[in-house]
Amino acid sequence: MDISIIIPLYNEEESLPELVDWIKRVVDAHQLSYEIIMIDDGSNDGSWEIIEQLKAANQNIKGIKFQRNYGKSAALNEGFKAALGDVVITMDADMQDSPDEIPELRRMIVDEGFDMVSGWKKKRYDNTFTKNIPSKLFNAVARKKSGIKLHDFNCGLKSYRNKVVKSIEVYGEMHRYIPILAKWSGFRKIGEKVVEHRPRKYGNTKFGWERFINGFLDLASIMFVGKFGKRPMHFFGLWGTISFLLGFIIFLWLTVSKYFFNETGLTQRPLFFFAIMIMIIGTQLFLAGFIGELISRNAPDRNSYLIEKKLGL
Ligand code: UDP
Ligand code: MG
Repeated sequence: MDISIIIPLYNEEESLPELVDWIKRVVDAHQLSYEIIMIDDGSNDGSWEIIEQLKAANQNIKGIKFQRNYGKSAALNEGFKAALGDVVITMDADMQDSPDEIPELRRMIVDEGFDMVSGWKKKRYDNTFTKNIPSKLFNAVARKKSGIKLHDFNCGLKSYRNKVVKSIEVYGEMHRYIPILAKWSGFRKIGEKVVEHRPRKYGNTKFGWERFINGFLDLASIMFVGKFGKRPMHFFGLWGTISFLLGFIIFLWLTVSKYFFNETGLTQRPLFFFAIMIMIIGTQLFLAGFIGELISRNAPDRNSYLIEKKLGL
């Protein structure tokens, strides 16, 4: 199968028929074999009934219905697990992403050898203050932290080589960082394509202002897990040791000044309390490192690596 198109959706009943029509027009024109996997993320409108009707008319459509709303990441993750196509395309259900981009996104994977291509909504039709400006800031931080040169990490329209989606796990609100997850898994050829963005035709946006706080917290955890997830002691141990040693040196200094220079009133000095504090903090960091090591040693995926090729085996 040439492509799997994965569409996470939450209360998007008005858009679905139009969206499917349009996708079908595009893939038929390019003679691609395809499947459309629609993941209903616990909608409480008629989205699922619409999916059932669409499926009855077109056997290439598949559906997954969540019992409740789990979020876009969970929906994408289920879609990734089910995808059979050589190239996997994700797009939003609200028709803000144009299906006309599909053939070129696929071509970049197949012909140019990209592992993943992310859309870039260069001209955006969203609210300037609640969406466009914050997302510029967010993208700048993500770019700097991850070293991936993308303008628009969070664009819903992306294409992937099948192997990529099978080797990453998206949960929480990690859908914003799929390029980073892909890079950590070893897929470094990540490209970008300017895509047409359209105003939302039906319904409302499902993401409010809270997404910024969650977004940045997720970025922090993803960077940490990616770097130290399999070796927590290298982070906690280092800082714990530095903190403890610094406190210890201060104490030595205070001791020397008491016994050799007869200084008094040591416990009145801020330095004394500072030394106690950083020694305790240092010990705790160290302990956190040990506990982290114990946990990661027991993690079932502690030895799961992606093997690219094998010879003679
Ligand atoms: N979505 C989802 N589960 C959620 C929230 C959103 O599956 O909990 C889907 C939504 O239906 C849409 C896509 O994710 O297909 C992007 O959402 P939206 O268009 O509201 O985001 P925006 O374009 O405003 O950033
Ligand atoms: Mg949208």
